[in-house]
Amino acid sequence: MADVHNKDQRRKNMRAIKSADTSIEVRVRKMLWHAGYRYRLNVKSLPGTPDIYLPKYRAAIQINGCLWHGHNCPQFVLPKTKTEFWKSKITDNVKRDIKNAETLQLQKIRLLVIWECALRGRGRLDENYMLILLERWLSSEKTLAIVDKQGAKFPDPANFISQINPALAIH
Ligand SMILES: [Zn+2]
Repeated sequence: MADVHNKDQRRKNMRAIKSADTSIEVRVRKMLWHAGYRYRLNVKSLPGTPDIYLPKYRAAIQINGCLWHGHNCPQFVLPKTKTEFWKSKITDNVKRDIKNAETLQLQKIRLLVIWECALRGRGRLDENYMLILLERWLSSEKTLAIVDKQGAKFPDPANFISQINPALAIH
């Protein structure tokens, strides 16, 4: 019985995390829409079902929750209960993210990953600044961009792993 309860609780936790991710995603969409960009949402035909896809720019945008996607930042804190469960769940997510980033690259689709910590919490970026970063990237030729609260970086796609929290031992 206790285990059934735990499973229920876990499901609730996961749902809470996912819907929190959705709310920051909506802010990014609105930002782009008001600036005149047109896009498609949750494009299932592309690897990883990108949150936002701008066909004109062949550019996909993923908004990643720092816990759920294993960011190497202070917002990544493994839950104290069921730690191993979460660790393996998140490790699976990260492996999938890496694979999807590679496949997008093969399809010549550019990818911008915005980490949750750039949009929420202490030290988040100003929304106007965020829009400037997005526009700069869209009009650039850069394949991969990462936005966190330090701003934008452009790692080599093979180096995507450098973003991931070492606690997940994916390296
Ligand atoms: Zn983060």
